[in-house]
Amino acid sequence: MIDPRANSKGPLAAPAPLPHVSRRALGRINDALPIPTECRYCSGPVALVDNSEIYRGRSYGGWPFAYWCKDCDAMVGLHPDTDLPLGTLANKALRTARQNCKAPFERIWRVLRLKSRKGAYAWLAEQLRIPVEQCHFGLFEVEQCEQARDASLRFLQAQEKAHVA
Ligand SMILES: [Zn+2]
Repeated sequence: MIDPRANSKGPLAAPAPLPHVSRRALGRINDALPIPTECRYCSGPVALVDNSEIYRGRSYGGWPFAYWCKDCDAMVGLHPDTDLPLGTLANKALRTARQNCKAPFERIWRVLRLKSRKGAYAWLAEQLRIPVEQCHFGLFEVEQCEQARDASLRFLQAQEKAHVA
């Protein structure tokens, strides 16, 4: 669902420490997720922070903010120019799995240009037997990340074989 603020009028309030929230950026996000307030791992409070608070004084990225549970170090980044999370709060193991397992999937739509990105997600949703609107690495748990990786690798291998034959 698109965040209702995308169609609101008047200036948008930006929660600290964000410099702004862009209505246009909100309007580009089809599946807005709820803003986390309580950690799903340890039930600790979740704060919106400049990620330099997490990374010992250095901030990373063009929109260097995150939702962060200081108690257990679970976190998730934000869609650029918004206060909306990129996914569910993730601990270290899940962040690593999301990052690593996405790489083979990205080759399907980006490098090989076999499908559009949207088409690639529709394909992946079929592989994982989940609705396409739930098919997003930011929503996956470790097991789904691994399933997505394996399905993508099988697809790439089959493509390579077909290419050689
Ligand atoms: Zn926590």
